[in-house]
Amino acid sequence: MTAEALRGPRDPFVDQAAGAAVKAADRAHVFHSWSAQGLLDPLAVAGAEGSYFWDYEGNRYLDFTSGLVFTNIGYQHAVVVAAIQEQAGKLASFAPAFAIEARSEAARLIASHTPGDLDKIFFTNGGAEAVENAVRLARVHTGRTKVLSAYRSYHGATSTAINLTGDPRRWASDTGSAGVVRFWAPFLYRSPFYATTETEECARALQHLEDTIAFEGPGTIAAIVLETIPGTAGIMTPPPGYLPGVREICDRHGIVFVLDEVMAGFGRTGKWFAADHDEVVPDLMTFAKGVNSGYVPLGGVAINAEIAATFETRPYPGGLTYSGHPLACAAAVATIRVMEEEKVVERAARLGETVLGPGLRELAERHPSVGEVRGVGAFWALELVRNGETREPLVPYNATGEAAAPMAAFGAAAKKRGLWPFVNMNRTHVVPPCTVSDAEALEGLAALDEALTVADDYTV
Ligand code: PLP
Repeated sequence: MTAEALRGPRDPFVDQAAGAAVKAADRAHVFHSWSAQGLLDPLAVAGAEGSYFWDYEGNRYLDFTSGLVFTNIGYQHAVVVAAIQEQAGKLASFAPAFAIEARSEAARLIASHTPGDLDKIFFTNGGAEAVENAVRLARVHTGRTKVLSAYRSYHGATSTAINLTGDPRRWASDTGSAGVVRFWAPFLYRSPFYATTETEECARALQHLEDTIAFEGPGTIAAIVLETIPGTAGIMTPPPGYLPGVREICDRHGIVFVLDEVMAGFGRTGKWFAADHDEVVPDLMTFAKGVNSGYVPLGGVAINAEIAATFETRPYPGGLTYSGHPLACAAAVATIRVMEEEKVVERAARLGETVLGPGLRELAERHPSVGEVRGVGAFWALELVRNGETREPLVPYNATGEAAAPMAAFGAAAKKRGLWPFVNMNRTHVVPPCTVSDAEALEGLAALDEALTVADDYTV
């Protein structure tokens, strides 16, 4: 273990020369995701523990982003780190065609928590590959090609997954011919259906989906892919009845129902899976991130009995060199056991009910820039607006540069107060580790309170 890794989050670490070297090599050689490389100025991070990380300059940040919403049990959990080390000593790597202990046990544990008969697990290296394979499973199973997804969505950056994605990151890679048709899922605050109640929004969204299917031709549609609670797109919990309604529509038309739980799964919403809130069982469910808190890349698809049966005697036409990698699976086994033993799912539920929900609603009452607070568990969004009446977003959709300045100013203010915020378009998402303590969460809310005064300056 390096010296910096041994240091605790409350022990400021200063080694500017080391930080400068890390930064210089990064700027010379690392090509980063989603970025204009020449405009980047990444923070050099020296270490992390629990809900905090720290740089080389003596600054420590409370992480309200959980990385990219994946460290559900926090950074450097000793049990998971030890399990990875032990697996590395035992069997660091092995081909996917064999039965190995870590993979078998990870699949068994995951299946013990997935809803209904989602009992077979196909492992991938991350979320996008999970979505790719869910679509492949659905297409081969149904013999149909078209896939429906929602505009307000993110499903990953590989070819099919980015074409399924609704957010603007799709535009540069949109082939327009990947067999994807997008529709509007419910979002009452910015209702695409001019609805004013959740009941109206639910009924109209389901009718819109019915109409889309009718005009696309039900017999051409292999799957509907939805995030159970859309994450990056804004944490919009669907109105009661929507997901059961989609389930019923899929059943009626022989369409495979895929729920993407890459972000919402593994405790984030205060249930093992967000689908558990509505007691909905999809045909396929994708997962990644929280399955092992991102300690080693891992994702997968949980497959129901009917689709698994399709591939009992017929080969599945897909695979990956590292499917079910031993280190990733050992990390998943340890993470899931930690989640069971430390009641991480229950803690996330309580955190949402008693700390984050009330705390964020209280902030909304005092800050005119907060248009809506929504979420559950450790999965919350503040919709920031210029004007509470008109609901005009604080920055325009997909704004960059000067147009995005209010959100940049808000983010900078939070960081100055020791809080690392998740900023996306006109929203900040409050997505700390599910294990964040009440005191840490309150510290974060106090920093948000101050940062929101900066956002308030842009309201009219
Ligand atoms: N699906 C959802 C819902 C996600 O939030 C993400 C990533 O944020 C993905 C898929 C893609 O996962 P990955 O980045 O591991 O490929």
